[in-house]
Amino acid sequence: STPDTLPNAGARRWAEAPDVPVLHDGRWFTGAELEERSRVVAGRFAAAGLAPGDRLLLSGPTGIGFVTAHLAALRFGLVVVPVNPAYGAREVAHVVADCRPAAGVMASPEAAGWVRDAGGPRVVVTGLDVDLPDGPAPALDVAGADDLALIVYTSGTTGAPKGASLTHANLLAGARALTTAWHWTAQDRLVLALPLFHVHGLCVGLHGTLLSGGSAVLQPRFEASGVLDAVAAHAGSLFFGVPTMYARLAESPRLRELSALRLAVSGSAALSPALFDAVEKASGQRILERYGMSETLITVSNPYEGERKPGTVGLPLPGVDLRLDEDTDEILLRAPSVMRGYWQRPEATAESFSDGWFRTGDVGALDADGYVSIVGRRKELIISGGYNVYPREVEEVLRAHPGVRDAAVIGVPDATWGEAVTAFVEASGVAEAELLAHARAQLAPYKRPKTVVLVTALPRNALGKVVKAQLRAD
Ligand code: ATP
Ligand code: MG
Repeated sequence: STPDTLPNAGARRWAEAPDVPVLHDGRWFTGAELEERSRVVAGRFAAAGLAPGDRLLLSGPTGIGFVTAHLAALRFGLVVVPVNPAYGAREVAHVVADCRPAAGVMASPEAAGWVRDAGGPRVVVTGLDVDLPDGPAPALDVAGADDLALIVYTSGTTGAPKGASLTHANLLAGARALTTAWHWTAQDRLVLALPLFHVHGLCVGLHGTLLSGGSAVLQPRFEASGVLDAVAAHAGSLFFGVPTMYARLAESPRLRELSALRLAVSGSAALSPALFDAVEKASGQRILERYGMSETLITVSNPYEGERKPGTVGLPLPGVDLRLDEDTDEILLRAPSVMRGYWQRPEATAESFSDGWFRTGDVGALDADGYVSIVGRRKELIISGGYNVYPREVEEVLRAHPGVRDAAVIGVPDATWGEAVTAFVEASGVAEAELLAHARAQLAPYKRPKTVVLVTALPRNALGKVVKAQLRAD
């Protein structure tokens, strides 16, 4: 019998139902086509001299080319290293130096050039159709559960991105937990407008689709109208987004069309209860919020049946052990989807595990029903006048003001306070003084921003996460 891995689960599906449409990108691609295309590309990787265990950089927009190269690599036993196509020369060089890939498949000639310049890879291909000479079909679907499948770089929210090393067993466990928890079946159709270089799009969206036997409409970039058009044209039943996507959908006059979905999921960052309410009011859709990270995949989720509590990320998924550190309330996890470690960073790996528990770096709280809330990140804790302030709480208060689109709070070194709570706010038609008064009415004195800075747009990465390091630098 074949090893229990994600590409094998996919290949089994394609053999059982070859004519079923699986992915849409301009047109529908069937299981048989995915099998055939990934087999051909795997043959090209083998003919180019690559061997199982080699790292493959893969970069490009969400679409059939990215997926085919990814599946070919996994089936052949290569370790896929997804790279953000928005990266410039310096960031690409960092990833090349860190994971020393044997090959790179890069969507743009520019990026391919940067990979070559960074030295290292024997094979660099421009274009996601992997234009290399064909070779004889190599052994496929032989990677074992404990073999490395993916090195995925974290978002770099708190520092330089680190490579989380995920095995085939991690990928399968991560996808299985979701298909079960969210009742994800072959009847489902996902509208997938997330990037595939991050676990949200790749391990949640794509892998869940392959494992469930369902289908997905791929979109190279998020646009509210594009998502709603796809839901209507293709009878989409699922949408997964980050909070900024829901904020954009909420600004659309077509928001109520989200009611056509069986399930709308939010993750990667905190979904504000105000946004949850706005979406529910207009569409009846109670967004299901869940929590995960590159290092662990999804571990906590609001229930599919049962109460979805806004402001919480729900309950640990089956197979996940979760507890809070006795002193710091840091969320500690044990789960089959937790990574093996950071790629070639033994010290960072050792620091992030204690006695088999993974230290998430996120501070949590549990309510009486066991629902988890994310209080903030340990690294973002502000100590002001000797008191602990988590930016998340202050941000939520500011976001609740009707004129505020979004807010990000940091601590700025200060002679009197140690750190002064400082808020950067995207708002329209509101003055600083009004926001300070609003905060005064809702927060204890030590948590109130000492300064409010109005900005037209907060600096964000590709997932819409605010890059606080940039706020500090400015
Ligand atoms: P880096 O580790 O490089 O600083 P990052 O932690 O943002 O970046 P990811 O692995 O992409 O990189 O994101 C995981 C983090 O995202 C979690 O640790 C948590 O802080 C945050 N997160 C994910 N889902 C949620 C959620 N539903 N609510 C609040 N925070 C969330
Ligand atoms: Mg992190």
